[in-house]
Amino acid sequence: MAPQASSSNGKPAPHADNGSRPHKTPQHEAIIIGAGVCGIYQLYRLLQLGVDVTVLEGSDGPGGTWYWNRYPGCRFDSESWTYGYSFSKELLQEWNWTEHFSPQPETLRYVNHVLDKFDLRKHIQLNSHVKRAEFDEDNDIWTLTLDDGRELTTRFLLTAIGMLSAPTMPRLPGVDDFKGLSFHTYYSPREGVDYRGKRVAVIGTGATAVQLIPVVAEQAAELTVFQRRPNWCAPLHNARIDDATMAKIKASYGEIFAKCRETPGGFIHGPDRRKFAEVPPAERLEFWEKLYKSPGFGIWLGNFRDVLMDEHANAEFTKFIADKIRARVHDPKVAEKLVPKDHGFGTRRVPMETNYYEAYNRPNVHLVDINETPIERITADGIKTSEKEYKFDIIVYATGFDAITGAFDRIEIVGQGGRKLADKWRDGPITYLGLQIAGFPNLITLAAPQSGSVATNFPRGIEEVVDWSTALLTWLRQRGYHHIEASADAEQQWFDHVKETYGWTLIGRAKSWFTGYNSNVPGHDTLRYTIYNGGALKYRQWLTEVADNNYRGFVVR
Ligand SMILES: Cc1cc2nc3c(=O)[nH]c(=O)nc-3n(C[C@H](O)[C@H](O)[C@H](O)COP(=O)(O)OP(=O)(O)OC[C@H]3O[C@@H](n4cnc5c(N)ncnc54)[C@H](O)[C@@H]3O)c2cc1C
Repeated sequence: MAPQASSSNGKPAPHADNGSRPHKTPQHEAIIIGAGVCGIYQLYRLLQLGVDVTVLEGSDGPGGTWYWNRYPGCRFDSESWTYGYSFSKELLQEWNWTEHFSPQPETLRYVNHVLDKFDLRKHIQLNSHVKRAEFDEDNDIWTLTLDDGRELTTRFLLTAIGMLSAPTMPRLPGVDDFKGLSFHTYYSPREGVDYRGKRVAVIGTGATAVQLIPVVAEQAAELTVFQRRPNWCAPLHNARIDDATMAKIKASYGEIFAKCRETPGGFIHGPDRRKFAEVPPAERLEFWEKLYKSPGFGIWLGNFRDVLMDEHANAEFTKFIADKIRARVHDPKVAEKLVPKDHGFGTRRVPMETNYYEAYNRPNVHLVDINETPIERITADGIKTSEKEYKFDIIVYATGFDAITGAFDRIEIVGQGGRKLADKWRDGPITYLGLQIAGFPNLITLAAPQSGSVATNFPRGIEEVVDWSTALLTWLRQRGYHHIEASADAEQQWFDHVKETYGWTLIGRAKSWFTGYNSNVPGHDTLRYTIYNGGALKYRQWLTEVADNNYRGFVVR
């Protein structure tokens, strides 16, 4: 049991000491950093509450993930109709998704539609990149410093800075020497890129590359993919949504979101409760064939429960998928390179693909395994491996993100006693509920490390934490509290629980961004407890229990 909410002198929250009032008034009651899906919803909720709030967004447009990532093939692997916000019936009824897995331009249009519908734009300050945030203990105020030198003050600081918003480049010499066009997929040129007739390199084979490669393969003269670690990918089976289907979806939103609430990942796909070994092999195979032909994450999240928990069950399913890759890729040597050898299916995030494996059957697509012939450097004309120099017109870095903690590390966050968050998190993040950090009062970290929302169908998770945070602020306001902070005990308990959840599934044992690994980021070569692996239902239970018990585990005054 987490400790009771208490005042700074240790008494339970309802008796918290209101005596020492801060004497300075901040410019805002709340500032949200980030205008992605999360920040936008938090803005909406705080405005409803009558809070004086502003959003600071570093980029020149709102939308976060869907504003930045404009590479060809970028789209959802969540069903579009489970991804949209669920808070407004009117919004649900008026918006038409055109594809089951919406492409990035449509999702960005959706986000902009939401901003206009609820008149939110005027509360968002674009081109406002926060580089520093410091807590003033005497006044319970955060002071934010922006890149352009501006300073803003706020009582409560809410971060919605994204878990996949800090792109990482490979640690290779010569990146700046290249004379052609090169970019990280996060920074794909807004005006689009003409790949036709070009010699293109893609470095990386994660979820982004898997979306991009088949599209670019159709346009480029030559496409060379540099792969370090293959991933287990599965077919997305995207399709257009016709009017009749959209009408049916609109009529079923109640059931759709109810279903999402019941599943550990917040998707419409929940685990099959049967155990792998209980099902006869022929029936098992039939089930897996059906999953392979079905759209979306069902193959990952709707599989037998123990496929992600039991080494043997996982190995059997992994073999099934390996055979699919071998059947789809004509050249057996290339196929073998595309079959992962260092982890089982689903223990890392599963990239969803459309004709990914078939792309390697094209004569203009080449796969270079950089374990065999490592990249030595980027040159003026291309890429030099230990074998030879390749010449390119375009290099695409699909090298992913300093996931989950990266956006935090890129802001200097200074808490009580001048302690920096980067120092506190040097060996990995530690939080209370993924929503607060001891020593950093009045800072609410939405969709942050160790939050349950990070491992889910994102908007389902963020609506949960945003609603919870909004209720917390309501509770504080009603009582006139100006200070809230996780106790060190509560934080430690949450951390221990998060750690425990890493033992529950095989996901907690593989090297991936779920376990905090990233060889492109110095110091991220060991296990870090970055996500809550207990599932959305357990996470909800924790949140509810803490709130129902006067925000147990928090110190308030
Ligand atoms: C290619 C791709 C596909 C994805 N597909 C899915 C999917 O199908 N389903 C799913 O559930 N999730 C998906 N995700 C995860 C996706 O990130 C979330 O769904 C969601 O968009 C995150 O919203 P957010 O608001 O938390 O963060 P973001 O969208 O990342 O927004 C964070 C915002 O904060 C801003 N920011 C960061 N730091 C600062 C700073 N210091 N100062 C000012 N502003 C700052 C950024 O500019 C950005 O606009 C995908 C992610 C990627 C990269």
